[in-house]
Amino acid sequence: MHEFAEARKAIEAMIRSDDLPGLLRQTEYLHGHLCPYVSLGVKAGHYAMKTLERENIGMEEIIAIVECNNCFTDGIQVVTGCTFGNNSLIFKDLGKTAVTVARREDGQAVRLALRPDYTEQMLSRYPAAGPLFQKVIVDRQGSPEEIHRFQHLWPAISKKELEVPLEEQFTIRRLSLTLPAYAPIFASQVCSVCGEAVMETRVRLRQGKPLCLTCAGEDYFILTGHGMTITRDSDHD
Ligand SMILES: [Zn+2]
Ligand SMILES: [Zn+2]
Repeated sequence: MHEFAEARKAIEAMIRSDDLPGLLRQTEYLHGHLCPYVSLGVKAGHYAMKTLERENIGMEEIIAIVECNNCFTDGIQVVTGCTFGNNSLIFKDLGKTAVTVARREDGQAVRLALRPDYTEQMLSRYPAAGPLFQKVIVDRQGSPEEIHRFQHLWPAISKKELEVPLEEQFTIRRLSLTLPAYAPIFASQVCSVCGEAVMETRVRLRQGKPLCLTCAGEDYFILTGHGMTITRDSDHD
């Protein structure tokens, strides 16, 4: 595939050879740390790519539909190659650690949803992890020593969880999907107030002049750690 799509070959090779630790290492570059849920995303992505047997160079050969924006999703992005930027990552704001990965050519897909008792099972495997997670991450009250312990324990768990049978972590089913059409390419217009270029589907006309949603003071969707909400910018910043 020439230089156009060289870099993902290493990841595709790791998928074929079931190199889960290698895929986890790749994901750490994007995610920034190792944790149990990033490990789950790596495993789900690996299983889906093995099942669908289609290489992905980010031209929408493979589509991933995620139902959460937690650590899991970064494992999915790295291993499947479906990302926010290449239009093959679809986000459904359902708050479930679940993904459906589909093959563009025929809509064949696989869905993996985290079993409801996963967290309980996982924490029972590592008794020190639950209280430490609560103190350091949830309550943000860990001592320097506890933070240090947590930063050793969490990656160790992430790696250990690669060895747990996938069926103990996920329910898995095959399905067939009708996928949305390829992402369109839209032209841009220039906002008459701020002077920035805006995709034409986001332009609003005021007295015949194009405005971006911010300058028009209109609602738009925003994805934050709280999920997808509607907001508007009342003041320019
Ligand atoms: Zn994480
Ligand atoms: Zn503007």
